[in-house]
Amino acid sequence: MSDRADLDLSTLGVHGGAPEPEPGAPVVPPVVQSATFFGGTGEPSSRLLYSRYGNNPNQALIARKIAALEGTESSLLLSSGMAAIALTILSVTDAGDHLVASKFLYGTTKTLLSEELPRRGVDVSFVDPSDPGAWRDAVTPRTRALLLEVPTNPTLRFFDPRVPAALAEELGALLIVDGTFASPVNVRFAELGVGAVVHSATKFLGGHSDLIAGVVSGSESVVSKVQALMKLYGPAPDPHMAWLLDRGLRTLTLRVSRQNETALALARWFEQRDEVEVVHYPGLEAHPDHALATELMQGFGGMLSMVVRGGAPAADAFSEALRLALVAPSLGGVETLVSQPRHTSHIHQSPEERLDLGIPDGFLRLSIGVEGLQDLKDDFSAGLQAASGTH
Ligand code: PLP
Repeated sequence: MSDRADLDLSTLGVHGGAPEPEPGAPVVPPVVQSATFFGGTGEPSSRLLYSRYGNNPNQALIARKIAALEGTESSLLLSSGMAAIALTILSVTDAGDHLVASKFLYGTTKTLLSEELPRRGVDVSFVDPSDPGAWRDAVTPRTRALLLEVPTNPTLRFFDPRVPAALAEELGALLIVDGTFASPVNVRFAELGVGAVVHSATKFLGGHSDLIAGVVSGSESVVSKVQALMKLYGPAPDPHMAWLLDRGLRTLTLRVSRQNETALALARWFEQRDEVEVVHYPGLEAHPDHALATELMQGFGGMLSMVVRGGAPAADAFSEALRLALVAPSLGGVETLVSQPRHTSHIHQSPEERLDLGIPDGFLRLSIGVEGLQDLKDDFSAGLQAASGTH
């Protein structure tokens, strides 16, 4: 009842996956801080409850709630976004297989694909999805998976998931999309034909920068293969983290709509500032993917990036002058966070590689929280003034 597909996302964030209420039951599901559960004698092992299997009541509630939010048959909660990405890929690839991935990826995902998968005999080709034909040019008879991240970290490009989705279907391969920057509020990935939607739930889904988690959603057959690997490799979520994540999800739509609004207003404001060379935000008319983002995004997101004039020293001065926004990696929380990818997500890539991805020195990534707009403008004004004093 509480998972009905016709319910609003705000309703599903609160009630999705919840058991039918019974008199005397707590309104807030308790943390079931137990590793294991009594089993009946002679019960088949598939029914055993054990927290590494992902079937502890807190884990199972999140799985049902996320599936309801994504509009998928099934979901699984894992102990990090990287666990969700890595195990989803491993669930469909064997040694000798091939994966095609967008070249615009979170740095650690890029390292997983360029160093770890080849070590396991999986070949990876990177493509530039701004050329929609690039996907088809890169596939081979051994291609088992396609991987896209949108909006991209940290350049906020938006590429059409329907292009690799159609190709994946034709090939019998799995399209995996990392939708962390969008959250289910801003993009309805399953409706666009994505076979496996993954998120770092550490970010917008949790929303309070107080947990590490990942989710994967798709058909029962896709998700059960990932769950089988979670049992083997072990990145299962702690019940208390699942409980915290449930608390975060209850306000997901409120937070994200506020973050969408504030980020759009700030993007327009940064665009007017002389100290700023370029603003990357899909909601701006000048953004290269604005038309597509307008078609496929319900909101343009709480992430925005910009390049300040004066390169690395200007970006450092900007960061040091901030008094409200916090200089820290990660994103999607209620507090505004600022980071320079050359120090964080893309630290392992060379300056040339970063430049090829559109990340010159001076690039700043802003995760907009839920603070007051004017307070943020005042803080960023101080940052821009400091940046302009460096050159
Ligand atoms: N995907 C994206 C787009 C990210 O930005 C991150 C982390 O920053 C991850 C995946 C990895 O998530 P986690 O830190 O939860 O493993």
